[in-house]
Amino acid sequence: MRDVRMKGFAERADVEEVERFLAERVRALPPEEVALAECAGRVLAEDVRAGVDVPPFARSAMDGYAVRGEDTFGASAYDPIELEILGESLPGRPYAGRVARGQAVRIMTGAPLPDGADAVAMAEGCSERAGRLEVREAVAPRKNVGAVGEDIAAGAVVLRAGRRLRPQDVGLLASIGAARVACVRRPRVRLLVTGDELLPPGSAPDAAHIVDSNSPMLRALVARDGGETLPHEILPDRPERIRAELERADCDVVLVSGGSSVGQEDHAPGLVAELGSLDFHGIAMRPSSPAGLGRIGARWIFLLPGNPVSCLCAYDFFAGPAIRALGGRPRAWPHRRARLPLARKISSAVGRVDYVRVAVEDGRVVPLATSGASILSSTVRADGFVIVPREREGMPEGAEVEVLLYDEACA
Ligand code: AMP
Ligand code: MG
Repeated sequence: MRDVRMKGFAERADVEEVERFLAERVRALPPEEVALAECAGRVLAEDVRAGVDVPPFARSAMDGYAVRGEDTFGASAYDPIELEILGESLPGRPYAGRVARGQAVRIMTGAPLPDGADAVAMAEGCSERAGRLEVREAVAPRKNVGAVGEDIAAGAVVLRAGRRLRPQDVGLLASIGAARVACVRRPRVRLLVTGDELLPPGSAPDAAHIVDSNSPMLRALVARDGGETLPHEILPDRPERIRAELERADCDVVLVSGGSSVGQEDHAPGLVAELGSLDFHGIAMRPSSPAGLGRIGARWIFLLPGNPVSCLCAYDFFAGPAIRALGGRPRAWPHRRARLPLARKISSAVGRVDYVRVAVEDGRVVPLATSGASILSSTVRADGFVIVPREREGMPEGAEVEVLLYDEACA
């Protein structure tokens, strides 16, 4: 690509073209073994098959008495049946003997059913008197007994590759004896924050400096999308420093914040082109039109404009889907969606995608008047955003639109 500094973009790529480019090339990272205690929220890299039955033994589902069901047939409050009590079966401490006709074993929930018994009479329907049991209710065979493999049968696939592990999934993995599982490796993301005017988060802004608001935002976005952000420093707008960072091969993704446009201090695009490939620079969208992306070695480089709204928007359109896909997650928008009518029209130019911040008021979608890419507070006031496709010339008042909501991201 030619040097666009102080000239501007000759042409801009379509958003869909960039999305297609990423969808075709970004693949999930290789698997790694993850200990059970760490695997909640991670993406399974392979199907998991149970090697054992759960439960592995027939067990009581009640506190009561292990009996032979047929021994209790005909029992009632008026006509109880008496059985001999042999002993007891407790969880983890089974009764070693066998239950024969006319016999019973005291048993607790979770304890193995003794040989010979086929049902459990609930404690509430029985009484013990002088070492003998009185059963006042008949119990059918198999009643109150958890059968071998009733939860999970040996050989069954319990979780499929691609599953994002829920807390209960981790519990189930433990129940089949798993200690570690193969998960898709989490993408390692390096922030490359440039700008001579930037102070680190936690500083007070002064007469010539502003505080870097992009890196805390990007860290949170990367965490939402399942990536891991490496430590970083703010870099001055000096090409040799930016080059050195771009050359570090210890990550899967580099998010360049700022210095990615066509200004004379915007060094990153040329460096990406020199060190690898600058696949796109300049995209037909608003905000974020100076965004770009490229590759250096196996690393994906996203050029995010420094203006905070542009940075957020370019991340969400391009870097987010790539980071999710690298980590084995669906590339689709992770936002909850709502379909609601527009309270006021949205204007937009044909030929570019618009990212319009909106508030939801009384069930109607209100486009926010402030549309400047530097006005981060507009995204704080907004409940979400509406995407106006390239071919649309805005959207009329009253039209049903789809809002992607900023809160409750459900990835
Ligand atoms: P740039 O993309 O570097 O040309 O920056 C565009 C605008 O965004 C300028 O006003 C910068 O001061 C501002 N900006 C750049 N980086 C950041 C950042 N990390 N946090 C907040 N504002 C920034
Ligand atoms: Mg800058």
